[in-house]
Amino acid sequence: MAFHNGRLRSYISNLERCFTDWICSLLNLILTHVVNQSIILGFHRIAQPTNSVFDHRIGIMDPSSFQKIIAYIKKLGYHFGSLEDLRKYLTNHKMKKLCIITFDDGYKDLFYNAYPMLKKHNIPFALFLVTSTVDSSNLLWLHKLYFIIDKIIDEGKNNILEKYFGPNANLEKLLLSIRNIVRSNKYLDISRLVFSMAQEVKLSITEERRRAKQIYLSESELNDMINNGLSICVHGHNHLPLNSLSQEETEEEIKNSVKYIERHFKKKPEYYCLPYSIGNQYYINIARESGIWGVIGGNTNLIRHYEYQYNLPRIEPYDFNSFCRQICGLYIKAILRRIG
Ligand SMILES: [Zn+2]
Repeated sequence: MAFHNGRLRSYISNLERCFTDWICSLLNLILTHVVNQSIILGFHRIAQPTNSVFDHRIGIMDPSSFQKIIAYIKKLGYHFGSLEDLRKYLTNHKMKKLCIITFDDGYKDLFYNAYPMLKKHNIPFALFLVTSTVDSSNLLWLHKLYFIIDKIIDEGKNNILEKYFGPNANLEKLLLSIRNIVRSNKYLDISRLVFSMAQEVKLSITEERRRAKQIYLSESELNDMINNGLSICVHGHNHLPLNSLSQEETEEEIKNSVKYIERHFKKKPEYYCLPYSIGNQYYINIARESGIWGVIGGNTNLIRHYEYQYNLPRIEPYDFNSFCRQICGLYIKAILRRIG
C-alpha cells in the first residue's frame, strides 16, 4: 500500500508541475506585452547531456530544448537583436523589446548544434570567449579538473576520488563536494589540486590535447560564425575568478583577452562577461580603459531602460519548462514593482 501511495504522490506532484508549466507558458503570452522589456539569454553548451561531471558542471542543454526556447521567444513577440542594438537602445533610452542570445566560454558544440539553426533563421548572437582556449592543446584549469574526475570514475579508481572529495555514494553528492571546493578555494589552490590529481591519474599530454581539440572552438570556426551574425566579446583570457586577483592580474586577464580578439579577429570587443559572475573593485575601470562598453554581471533579471551598463542582468535557462517559470516570475516581479 505504501508503495502505491508513494507512486500516487509522485504522479500527483508530476501532474502539478506540468500544470504549473502549462499555466506559466500561457500566462507569459499575455504578461510579455504588459511588461515590454528586453532580455539577454545566456547559454553555455548545446548538446545531448551525458552522465559526465563535465556535462553536469558546465550548463548543458539539449538542442531540441534550445530550439523550443527560440521558437517560444518569437511567440512572445521579441525581436532578436545584437549587443550593439542593445547599446543603442540603452543609450537612447528607447527600449524595443529585444532578445539577445549569448553564449559563454567557447565550446565546439556551439558551432555544430546551435550556429546552424541561428544562421538559418538569421538570428544574431554573441560569444563571451575565453581567449586562451582557441585552438588550444591544453584544458582550462577547471575543465581539466572535471576531465580528471571523469577519468577517475571511468577507471573505477574510487580511492583517489575519496582522497580528494571525501566518501561519495553518488554523482549528486560528488558534484556538491566539487562545487564546495571550487567555491571556497582560490584558483591557485585549485590549480595545485588539479596538478596533483593529474599526476595521480597519469593524465598524458596526448589525452589532454585530444580532449581540448574535442571541446574548444577553433579560429576558423569562429571566423565562419563572425561572418554570419556572431559578435565576439570577452570572458577573460584564462577564465580566472576576479575575486582572487590583484589589480595587475585583473588588468592582465581582461586586457590580454581584448588584445587577442583585436589581433586574431580584427574586431574591438565591446562587452565583457564576468567569469563565475564574480567581480572585484578594479574591473569597471579596466574594462572602460580597454574599450569595453558593457559588462554582464551575475544578476538574473529583465533589462530596464536605466540599466547600469557595467552590471547588466541576464537569464540563463536550463531547459524549456524552467525557462517558462523563470520568465513568468520575472514578469510578475516587474509588474508588482510598477504597481508598488
Ligand atoms: Zn564562463
